[in-house]
Amino acid sequence: MNKPKKMNLAYLPTPIVPLKAMSEEFNKEIYIKRDDLTGVEMSGNKVRKLEYAIQEALDLKCDTLITCGGLQSNHARATAAAAASLNLNCHLFLRNDFTDTKSGNAFLDLLFGATIHLIEPEDYVDIDGIMENFKNELIDQKGYILPTGASNGIGTFGYVDAVEEIRQSNIDFDAVVVTVGSGGTYAGLWYGNKINNEPYDIIGFNIASTKSYFQKRIVEILKESFSLCDDHRTVEEDDIQIIDGYGGRGYGLSTKEELDFIHEFAKKEGILLDPVYTGKAMFGLYNSLKQGMFNDYKEILFIHTGGLYGTFPKSSQFEF
Ligand SMILES: *Cc1c(COP(=O)(O)O)cnc(C)c1O
Repeated sequence: MNKPKKMNLAYLPTPIVPLKAMSEEFNKEIYIKRDDLTGVEMSGNKVRKLEYAIQEALDLKCDTLITCGGLQSNHARATAAAAASLNLNCHLFLRNDFTDTKSGNAFLDLLFGATIHLIEPEDYVDIDGIMENFKNELIDQKGYILPTGASNGIGTFGYVDAVEEIRQSNIDFDAVVVTVGSGGTYAGLWYGNKINNEPYDIIGFNIASTKSYFQKRIVEILKESFSLCDDHRTVEEDDIQIIDGYGGRGYGLSTKEELDFIHEFAKKEGILLDPVYTGKAMFGLYNSLKQGMFNDYKEILFIHTGGLYGTFPKSSQFEF
């Protein structure tokens, strides 16, 4: 396969370590790939996608990165950090959720010198148009737009690479489990798995929207990726395995159960999950294991996609 060019931004490969308490509880081998350790400033899954997207921006001679997300977007923060390290301008269009703009990821965005444009929720529905207009009105700068979560054809290749790393672990996983927030990480894992003749089942837990939305969306992203490397394969919505039902109260909102689970997990495993993404998906995996939905799998790998900074703005919601 002719993958697009990428630059190095992440610390790779990331380690794969056993989850001792959970493995014991369910009598399986359950591991976690620590993609929360891809860096400090650019930590998490987004940096793998940025390695491809920002390379494309530089190839197009762009000097200004434009992207969007929630106020606590990990993707926006990683983009702001990358822009600072590469001496690029950065404009973030963040959906106002009326929480503190100087905490967690939003605070870090400011430290990295990014310009934050707060967008009211009712305007955010046209976020693509807002970014496009902004880009067109730039005078002495050339803008490059990254969509939500850098989940597009180019960003996907970051997780095709991650599958190569998983292969090199020489552990015979039968399932790879990941959080689905905008779909790009799942798409990359799916594509990498396909290229390797499908050693794994790739199973996503969506933390927002619905299973059918993401099946459709991930197929779209994959088709874009295929066309970028002249790959003529096809993919159907039914090929995308998603387990719905763990979005809780909605994007960025937490339930007591979810926060208690993150607390228990930290105590038992010594690993921090985040409240917006990995906490919900791991809670989903845990409950699915309990319900016997993973009985056919013996060696399971969960991808830790990061998100730690999103925990701090929620600290007062945890009960001890
Ligand atoms: C963005 C994000 C995800 C979801 O990844 P997508 O590629 O958008 O589906 C999962 N976990 C964390 C911590 C994230 O920031």
